[in-house]
Amino acid sequence: NDEQFKNVISHAKEYGFVFQSSEIYDGLSAVYDYGQLGAELKNNIKTYWWKAMVQMHENIVGIDSAIFMHPKIWKASGHVDGFNDPMIDNKDSKKRYRADQLLEDKIARYEKDGKTDKAAKLQADMDEALKAENLPMLKTLIEAHEIACPVSGTKNWTDVRQFNLMFSTQFGAMAEGSEEVYLRPETAQGIFVNFLNVQKSGRMKIPFGIAQIGKAFRNEVIARQFIMRMREFEQMEMQFFVRPGEDEKWFAYWKEARLKWHKALGTPAEKYRFHDHVKLAHYANAATDIEFEFPFGFKEVEGIHSRTDFDLSQHQEFSGKKMQYFDNDLNEEGKPYGNYIPYVIETSIGLDRMFLLTMINAFEEEDLSTEEKQDSRTLLRLHPCLAPVKVAIFPLTKKDGLPEKAREIMNSLKLDFNCIYEEKDAIGKRYRRQDAIGTPFCLTIDHQTLEDDTVTIRHRDTMEQQRIEIKHLQELIESKTSW
Ligand code: ATP
Repeated sequence: NDEQFKNVISHAKEYGFVFQSSEIYDGLSAVYDYGQLGAELKNNIKTYWWKAMVQMHENIVGIDSAIFMHPKIWKASGHVDGFNDPMIDNKDSKKRYRADQLLEDKIARYEKDGKTDKAAKLQADMDEALKAENLPMLKTLIEAHEIACPVSGTKNWTDVRQFNLMFSTQFGAMAEGSEEVYLRPETAQGIFVNFLNVQKSGRMKIPFGIAQIGKAFRNEVIARQFIMRMREFEQMEMQFFVRPGEDEKWFAYWKEARLKWHKALGTPAEKYRFHDHVKLAHYANAATDIEFEFPFGFKEVEGIHSRTDFDLSQHQEFSGKKMQYFDNDLNEEGKPYGNYIPYVIETSIGLDRMFLLTMINAFEEEDLSTEEKQDSRTLLRLHPCLAPVKVAIFPLTKKDGLPEKAREIMNSLKLDFNCIYEEKDAIGKRYRRQDAIGTPFCLTIDHQTLEDDTVTIRHRDTMEQQRIEIKHLQELIESKTSW
């Protein structure tokens, strides 16, 4: 599995999906750039989410709020005081770790070794310590379970301290008089503070949702597992505003709806599971993670949280502005519901984690060996809607007017589909390159094309080839790649 993960990472780099940020300067830890194909794939994932959430729901609208926000917002939301990770240093290696992650790794090791009782006990103890924010207890657990530093191998630990994950910077040109602002650690607050703006200007009626896709920043204590945990990342979040008392119903609804969204991409169902939270964040009355089985175990890709009226109430208190909604629908007693602060169900998915999931799930080294010869190919079995390139266009040779004909076909398709033109190398080699980037269709233009206006279309997954009239291309490709 480690091997498979390494292969995905190097594949992502080799084909222009993901690069280490600032690579020529030896990189910047936990920051990544998306290359020419990565940017396309990422956009397609965003489109899939946006269409499913905003376009398909009449009562959900999308916004795009700023990354900089008034610093008081992060006081109100609880991030200034509470957005911390428990951090511990190894005195010998001087390496810094998250105490909870050291414990989680130990739990995973116990599970691997079949020591399930030990794993369960440690999990329960850790949950208790985290819930009570009992930092000495975390250290005691690390010592009691003889956890050694992965770098120095020693057990010489400092005390556990809280570490705030927010990045801050100076706002305004002058050093004096400038104010400290934060880079948002989540996109959700941009939605909460615009709740009334959107509700009034859009004449939204409860229940309704506000969605947004955007960057978030967290000064993660340790970065690992490629784009799984980054310091700059992107979130796709939706806050769904409901009547108090209807939160449980909507929580259950969004839990199922979001899992359905994942499965619709064709990912095997057994790769997903829910993980209900025992230890709840300060704002939540119910929370679950959608976890995916990554090569390094089941990990969270998306969180669904029932946030109560916590955020809106806090903003009402801190801003002094009323965050209430007037509901004139009639309740069971025939009276209007009246004024209230709505409850909120949130769905929050990391775009980069979804990207990683998609790459891992699509990556395949397929054995094509026959009795006569050994053969294999690397391919990305991406859902055609997500594939960065939809159509590759190959003239069989570089002469006899074939390139011109190929260009003509490309020009007729490229407004609707992302196309790539390739005339170098043998056809077989060109096919393999497209397999490796997940292109669902390759078109070969040959001498027969000039005579009867047909081309060969080759399908990525089956490697089947068929002869098709040029005039039917649009329809065929559309039918497979449209949402
Ligand atoms: P974790 O426990 O993994 O740190 P979290 O519970 O803090 O995640 P949330 O605050 O619920 O995460 O954020 C929602 C989603 O944002 C997560 O499910 C994840 O997909 C994504 N996410 C959070 N932190 C990061 C990060 N550092 N890098 C990439 N994606 C992230």
